[in-house]
Amino acid sequence: GASVSVGGLPIKPYHCLEDAVSAIINSANMEGGFAVAVNAEKVISAMKDENLKDCLLSASLLYADGISVVKTIKSKGVVNSRIPGCELWVELMKKVAESGQSVYLLGATEETNKATAKKLKEQFGVHNLTRRNGFFEDEESIIDEVVRLKPEIVTVALGSPRQEFLIAKLREVHPGAFYMGVGGSYDVFVG
Ligand code: UDP
Repeated sequence: GASVSVGGLPIKPYHCLEDAVSAIINSANMEGGFAVAVNAEKVISAMKDENLKDCLLSASLLYADGISVVKTIKSKGVVNSRIPGCELWVELMKKVAESGQSVYLLGATEETNKATAKKLKEQFGVHNLTRRNGFFEDEESIIDEVVRLKPEIVTVALGSPRQEFLIAKLREVHPGAFYMGVGGSYDVFVG
């Protein structure tokens, strides 16, 4: 259905994870994009910070990853359910394993990032993967690396709003990729 405004952010409602997967993940092709998981904290932060709001509005898709966002949408008469970003990311990685698309895995500690890459390779069959932990000195080196590697899929685990701001910068230099901010998803994934 059409997007529903929550605190000025247009959120796309989905009936279930499967619907979100087919709409979001299956469209994560060469055309590029930026999917943002929205929870109450992000809505409130965006209300207080015009730059963050602009950044979130620049995304190609905002989805409800927070029960109060889901409830707000329901209160406007629109059926929807919570789409956990972490689960969406796992589905994206499954799709990437099938398609052979290149992935740039950014963020989390070196230990977590390395373990995530290993699990993705060994258990999911994701082979076209480059990675970098989230404790880098300067953003420029990340930006340069993305320009050089031109990955098709970029997932960023730095926490919000840092990951969203960095993705906005990366899209300026490499607009063709599909981007997702994933917060603590790698930590969850490797347990
Ligand atoms: N992180 C990072 N670099 C930093 C600070 C944090 O890569 O300088 C990582 C951290 O290791 C974790 C993720 O960012 O994997 C943040 O997860 P959190 O659950 O705090 O994010 P949220 O989902 O709450 O935005």
